[in-house]
Amino acid sequence: MYFASDNSSGVPAEVLEALSRANRGFSMPYGADDLMEGVRTSLREIFEAPEASVYLVATGTAANALALACYCPPWAAVYCHRTAHVEEDECNAPEFYTGGAKLVPVDGPDGRMEPERLEAALDAAAPGGVHNTQKGMLTITNTTEAGTVYSPGEVARLAGIARGHGLPVHMDGARFANALVSAGCTPAEMTWKAGVDVLSFGGTKNGLMGVEAVILFDPRKAWEFELRRKRGGHLFSKHRYLSAQMAAYLADDLWLDLAGRANAAAARLSQGIAALEGGELRHPTQANMVFAAFPRAAHLRAREAGAAYYLWPFGQSLDGPAETPLSARLVCSWATTREDIDRFLGLLRG
Ligand SMILES: *Cc1c(COP(=O)(O)O)cnc(C)c1O
Repeated sequence: MYFASDNSSGVPAEVLEALSRANRGFSMPYGADDLMEGVRTSLREIFEAPEASVYLVATGTAANALALACYCPPWAAVYCHRTAHVEEDECNAPEFYTGGAKLVPVDGPDGRMEPERLEAALDAAAPGGVHNTQKGMLTITNTTEAGTVYSPGEVARLAGIARGHGLPVHMDGARFANALVSAGCTPAEMTWKAGVDVLSFGGTKNGLMGVEAVILFDPRKAWEFELRRKRGGHLFSKHRYLSAQMAAYLADDLWLDLAGRANAAAARLSQGIAALEGGELRHPTQANMVFAAFPRAAHLRAREAGAAYYLWPFGQSLDGPAETPLSARLVCSWATTREDIDRFLGLLRG
């Protein structure tokens, strides 16, 4: 019953086997390996973007920070949701890699930025000219940090506002596959067709050992990305091991299959909690994360039996009246089993 994060799962056999195959013989380093050529071709096909540039890094933080650095000058603002990973969970890596760009949070319910608020923030930017933070770029997260999913239309609306102000658009897709499966659209519709310039395409949360791709739909920034990746210490010399993971992920739609399993597990968990006495969803469950409240006594039973998850937001106490509801974040992965969910729900029921 590991619901702390999707990265508490292991790696599917297909990926380990691909690593083992990649381990045979010799290969050119630093991304010049044949497997990387295949990854580039696959991602261009999957995204219907024959010109796109594709790079691999080992963490989502690096993917985001390097992508933002290519598009946002140090005197400008990156507009993000208040709960965005770049804002809350990257220890100022975006500020560091951009050389000082400022993150400007924009609110909206259920992890989604409200278009009117984005518009207002952009309209109000830099009235004092040279003295102020300039408008830089927009970043949106899909799947959002609240487990909700922007539809392609919602992405297009936000991206259109940014573009109306001359700003480029980044998408943090650490859980891109989960969002895509949920929205039922094509990768192109979710990204460049909706106005996204650069995507952090997640792998690790959805079953890889440690790989994310950065896809630049406009290849003009490609060389700059390469230089920044090297300078930032994220160009891997034994790169074939990154390529092999990503190649296995893309082969036979494994990435979509894994995300479908995680989303289905979360739907089952979510329905089970919503049906509990004293159970209540905090956000709609649209991908692989469940945000829900249930009585403290149920938390204590689950924890005693070894369930692992975070109380969300942090800072809630397990000490206190038994009936008081406490909120939790429960994340499912490709490896979450029906048995684990049903056992967990049984514990909550008491
Ligand atoms: C996990 C996550 C990342 C990447 O995190 P790393 O720990 O650096 O790999 C980025 N964005 C979101 C929304 C995430 O959930």
